[in-house]
Amino acid sequence: MSTGFRFDRLFIGGAWVAPIDGGVRPSIDPATGQPWGDVAYGGARDIDAAVAAAKAAFEGPWRRMPPWERAALLRKFADLYATQVGALAEVETRDNGRAVRESRGDIGLHAQYYHWFASLADKLGGRTIPMDDSVHAFTTRHPVGVVGAITPWNVPLMAAAWKLGPALAAGCTVVLKPAEQTPASSLALAHLFEEAGFPPGVVNVVPGDGPVAGARLVEHPDVAKISFTGEGTTAKTILKAGADTLTRCTFELGGKAPHILFADADLDQALNAATGSAWALCGQSCALGSRVLVERPVYDKVVEAFRARAARVRVGIPLDPATHMGPQAHQQQLEKTLSYVSIGRAEGAELITGGARIDRDGLADGYFVEPTVFAGVSANMRIAQEEIFGPVAAIIPFDGEDEAVSIANSTPYGLAAGLWTRDTGRAHRVAARIEAGMVWVNTYRYIRWSTPYGGVKASGWGRENGIEGLDPFLETKTTIVSTTGTFADPFAN
Ligand code: ADP
Repeated sequence: MSTGFRFDRLFIGGAWVAPIDGGVRPSIDPATGQPWGDVAYGGARDIDAAVAAAKAAFEGPWRRMPPWERAALLRKFADLYATQVGALAEVETRDNGRAVRESRGDIGLHAQYYHWFASLADKLGGRTIPMDDSVHAFTTRHPVGVVGAITPWNVPLMAAAWKLGPALAAGCTVVLKPAEQTPASSLALAHLFEEAGFPPGVVNVVPGDGPVAGARLVEHPDVAKISFTGEGTTAKTILKAGADTLTRCTFELGGKAPHILFADADLDQALNAATGSAWALCGQSCALGSRVLVERPVYDKVVEAFRARAARVRVGIPLDPATHMGPQAHQQQLEKTLSYVSIGRAEGAELITGGARIDRDGLADGYFVEPTVFAGVSANMRIAQEEIFGPVAAIIPFDGEDEAVSIANSTPYGLAAGLWTRDTGRAHRVAARIEAGMVWVNTYRYIRWSTPYGGVKASGWGRENGIEGLDPFLETKTTIVSTTGTFADPFAN
């Protein structure tokens, strides 16, 4: 492997170790369906070892380190990360098939995430509380302890940045368990933490199967908090498994984001965003505008534009910089997407373009699927209600603001939404009524380190990024000090 990272060991306690009850197995390149490298995965005992290392680091050097030194280490790591963008993008693209032009763009931003969190590490003060003269009351903020970070296969390094950045800035230590389908880039990340000189055990990386390694991490009594990105059904399993130990959880779950195009919008710009968002990451991101709500006067025009623009998407080998869209990240996801194409057809939606696996030369063994557009979709169809996670746009016509809002809010999800209009009043009215953790107006998927990200309803609990992104990793302690030293005898009379 040209990047020079090794993947056949786990990173535990600052050392590269062979799995105790896991093993080494091939990771599959979704562009070819073939193994591309051997990756270590851990079992329950490996997780136990990682948690023990994280606990020792938390109680030892990491807790004693002044926050500005923690910040300096994070900055050093961030600078190192910035030098490795190309190599990290190559590893991630190999593992999950995301077009390398997208991987590079995304991973190119991550150093700034770590810098942002580093900048907060020594500013996590509490506050003084106005009281009467007899006491002085103040709060201090403390790291919760060992964090289990469980990440998904679509954006492993981004999810790691969103969890490890704030956790480390807050003074926690971490066991990172990436998804079983895409473990390699998280092990590459471990190399950079090692090189930056983090004390052993502060960051541990143990790939492994969700129901084995993930489950052990969740139920481990020494894990104070789970930061999870994945499916709602898994979140419910995690919540139950962590109940006995009262493990704190934050969840970033799915989405079925409405992307609303009003007839008065700047349609060219709106179409750039709406089509880009339909097919980015081959449809595999929870914030994508997979439901395109279009006001009737421009409906035909928008449907035609989607058809025309789908033909311009260059589907191909993801490591080719010219490729716009790679394959689905694994075979199960390919099958899921194709099954939703059948569901959409059966429900009576109009398949405008795409909908099939691509079997042309060079791509037939990979998990490639055509950019797909359904029009004439109604809000209650399954393809408009359920998360497909494939490159499938569902175009839904509407009349007026009220119907737009009602359709937008009609799914169990509430992660993100976008709306396009030239009417400022309407932009504010509609944005306020949409049930979502984030609303973009005349833009889409603008996501940064400083802007809180997360969902309402079935899309999750808690926020990542922004100053709020540190809250789940901190406890508040209130200290109340008497200024008089006197305490009345309750039994005096
Ligand atoms: P997806 O459909 O995106 O694969 P999952 O929720 O299944 O979503 O996976 C997201 C992450 O959760 C992965 O790292 C996976 O290994 C992990 N995971 C799956 N099942 C469990 C579980 N029972 N306990 C803890 N983690 C799990």
